Amino acid sequence: MKLKDFSTYFDTNEFLFKEGDEGDFAYIIETGSVEVSHQRGDRKLILSNLGEGDVLGEGAVIDKLPRTATARAIEPTRVIAIPVDYIDQKINAADPTVRLFLRLIMERYRDMYSRLTHVFEGMSPFDTEPTESLASTTSELKSVMAQYLDMQQRISTAMNMPAYKGENKVVGEQTLLSTKLSVTEQKSIKSALQNDEFCLHYQPILDLENEKIIGCEALVRWPDQSGKIALPSEFIPRAEMTGLIIDLGYWIAREACTFQGRLARQFRQPLFVSINLSGKQFDDKNLIDSLADIMDETGVVHEQIKFEITETLLMENPKLAGNSLERLKETGAKLAIDDFGTGYSSFSYLHQFPFDTLKIDRSFVSTMSRNEKSHEIVKSLINLSHDLGMDVVAEGIESNYELDMLLQHRTDFGQGFYFSKAVAEEEFIKLL
Ligand code: C2E
Ligand code: CA
Ligand code: CA
Repeated sequence: MKLKDFSTYFDTNEFLFKEGDEGDFAYIIETGSVEVSHQRGDRKLILSNLGEGDVLGEGAVIDKLPRTATARAIEPTRVIAIPVDYIDQKINAADPTVRLFLRLIMERYRDMYSRLTHVFEGMSPFDTEPTESLASTTSELKSVMAQYLDMQQRISTAMNMPAYKGENKVVGEQTLLSTKLSVTEQKSIKSALQNDEFCLHYQPILDLENEKIIGCEALVRWPDQSGKIALPSEFIPRAEMTGLIIDLGYWIAREACTFQGRLARQFRQPLFVSINLSGKQFDDKNLIDSLADIMDETGVVHEQIKFEITETLLMENPKLAGNSLERLKETGAKLAIDDFGTGYSSFSYLHQFPFDTLKIDRSFVSTMSRNEKSHEIVKSLINLSHDLGMDVVAEGIESNYELDMLLQHRTDFGQGFYFSKAVAEEEFIKLL
């Protein structure tokens, strides 16, 4: 589905949607006004006139039934158009009870709405004489209309509850702003992928004994037009929430494998490239097959690719992750457990899953000098990893002191600002 611009303009008399249309967008009015009506032939029942901050078109987007009304701009109007797939993701991520309530509310709303339109349709346009049948139809219409207005009033009251204090419109400034931001970000991550706006930086990983670069970690970056670079913490959580991490993850894997291929052709020594995998990528049933295909298509030696998986990912879904990790290992790629020590640090993960490398989190490395316990933990982790046949990468080495300590404990490899931050490909090559 092609995304409309999140901020969309409608001229006077232009339709946002018509009765019977498919629900492709919900709208929040930024400026202007919209008439919502139900029409039969040339008769029209105006249901509401909506203005700045009001929401419309959410029903058909939520329950996937056709639009029950027609929405027309009655003056030049600007709206935020929220796409149906964005709303689907939000609903799917909600608590099951909330999802159930939402469905029930929608069913009741549809029921009331169909009674309202039924009564309206039952009224003949020539029923001008106050006959008994017209009188009863009119009173039924009034009663249903009263229910409808009462529901709108309740919605309005709910939106003015303490949580929304100070926001006197149906959707207040804050909500408007955060929705706009969220829709914009999703749209921009999607178009950034289409336009190839992301890039990878590579942080060298060194053998601590001789300080030679033996590989690197691929870290995603998102430069904007002004040259400012967004770090993963600014967009990875959003990409995970919206499911776009799956496509972004494949882009990253392909880019990193292609880079490894270039390195292998240009330099004799085999350098490995580490790729971070996010938990959400494991929701994709084809993850392992697709990663294997990417490694094959890019012609990379599988053993020179290392996938980093965090401890938190294993904690959240040990069974699924375990199964996928076994299959990932069968492709020949190496596996590292990342950020070790930040989760529950269950040592059972270490022999339960087929890891080749343990990455000690920066928080331990940086507190080693001040905190005797961190020091002891690092020492034990290194010994344990070696006993289990894993090598160790210490993350976030920033000082000579930290390097010395790690060397004393026989840490194999390390990365950190002391050596180099993550850099673009050309700069990385200069470091070799
Ligand atoms: P991470 O996997 O633990 O990556 C290491 C992070 O520590 C990187 O931050 C790196 O720049 C930073 N770092 C390295 N050495 C030092 C140091 O000496 N001192 C300090 N203060 N920091 C250091 P970055 O690139 O901002 O990435 C943050 C996190 O975002 C990563 O943590 C990883 O969880 C995630 N991420 C980065 N790239 C990707 C990616 O391609 N895919 C996925 N799924 N996640 C990614
Ligand atoms: Ca990592
Ligand atoms: Ca890490």
